Amino acid sequence: MSDMTAANAIAPLTALTEEERMFQVATREFAEKEIRPHAEQMDREGVFRHELIDKFFEQGFMGLEVPETYGGSGGSFFMAILAIEEFSRVDPSAGVVIDVQNTLVNNALQRWANEAQKQKFLPLLVRDTVGAYALSEPNAGSDAFALAARARPDGDRFILNGRKLWITNAKEAGLFIVFATIDPELGYKGITAFLIERDTPGFSVGKKEDKLGIRASSTCELILEDCPVPRANVLGEVGKGYKVAMETLNEGRIGIGAQMLGLARGALEHAIAYAKERKQFGHPIADFQAVQFQLARLATEVEAARLMVDNAARLKDARLPFMKEAAMTKYFCSQVAERVASECLEVYGGYGFTKDYPAEKYLRDSKIGKIYEGTSFMQLQTIAKLILA
Ligand SMILES: Cc1cc2nc3c(=O)[nH]c(=O)nc-3n(C[C@H](O)[C@H](O)[C@H](O)COP(=O)(O)OP(=O)(O)OC[C@H]3O[C@@H](n4cnc5c(N)ncnc54)[C@H](O)[C@@H]3O)c2cc1C
Repeated sequence: MSDMTAANAIAPLTALTEEERMFQVATREFAEKEIRPHAEQMDREGVFRHELIDKFFEQGFMGLEVPETYGGSGGSFFMAILAIEEFSRVDPSAGVVIDVQNTLVNNALQRWANEAQKQKFLPLLVRDTVGAYALSEPNAGSDAFALAARARPDGDRFILNGRKLWITNAKEAGLFIVFATIDPELGYKGITAFLIERDTPGFSVGKKEDKLGIRASSTCELILEDCPVPRANVLGEVGKGYKVAMETLNEGRIGIGAQMLGLARGALEHAIAYAKERKQFGHPIADFQAVQFQLARLATEVEAARLMVDNAARLKDARLPFMKEAAMTKYFCSQVAERVASECLEVYGGYGFTKDYPAEKYLRDSKIGKIYEGTSFMQLQTIAKLILA
């Protein structure tokens, strides 16, 4: 076996470039200073502070991957993933605000928009306009292409009618990617993606959900009533919306993996600090081997989740296939997040069960990881299809 010198050794998966490391540190500091002080109140009130979103824009967090020519930060997908993780460590609601903006909305525009659409919308999305991504409907969840929302061609425009459900960021958003079918008989080949501005006649944002977790992140219904959308606002091609949806969601799943990783890290850090402080039987509970082993197991799971997130994001940036890894990442990280959050709550004993400590919020916030952007069963379906092909 030949010796491997430091020069030709393959870098560890978790290695960061200098630029990434500096970005990570700055993002962590931002999250601590700007998000942490408001996380508990935003959760209690179920409202995301507008001033905070303004700061996300000011600091470039809403256009991380958008090229500088459109006013964006010109970073990589990996950097967006780092930011989602750092925000979610402090508050998973903040994590999903930038996750949807970067991995779904900006990503879909960068990939599918024509130059005129990019020139019009990307500068807004990086400057002051929150975006939302509207696929789900009351009767089209896991069966995402069974859409009832209808787009009827009418000269140089389409007239949209229908309802969308569960739309993240909808309360704050100014631009919506809305999926509708031009003809339900065509099945998935009828699905078309539209760019809809909030002030379009016939378009309105409806009821906001009162949720178990990520309570500060808005989740609303959208209502389309004879809503005229110019043909110029079709994203991609008519009838190719399913490709827009599938390909952006593949990337989005890595984002949710990062959200769940950040959440697990946050919960674990709190539990470790508490275990060192809390005394029983004359000792900090961290002195007891059972607690040590519990924390060690959870830390191992967080490490495994990190490797999956980092690898999937690196594959994406390297333009290598990543669909299987993205589905596995979301599936695994959401399991890790729930388990870590639940066991960390137990480290706090009875105190963990109260709202005086952050443990219960992490547990509530963790549940969504197994549901949105495709439930865990849907991830398993994708993984199974790929490994059995
Ligand atoms: C907080 C929140 C935010 C969201 N944000 C957005 C958003 O921004 N944009 C958007 O478009 N959507 C969004 N969603 C919707 C989300 O993607 C859907 O809720 C999700 O895809 C599941 O769909 P459903 O709720 O209709 O559940 P269903 O599809 O009805 O699933 C119910 C159960 O049945 C299981 N199931 C369904 N089909 C199968 C099958 N074939 N095999 C095995 N099991 C199956 C599921 O795994 C699940 O356990 C959000 C949802 C929530 C709760």
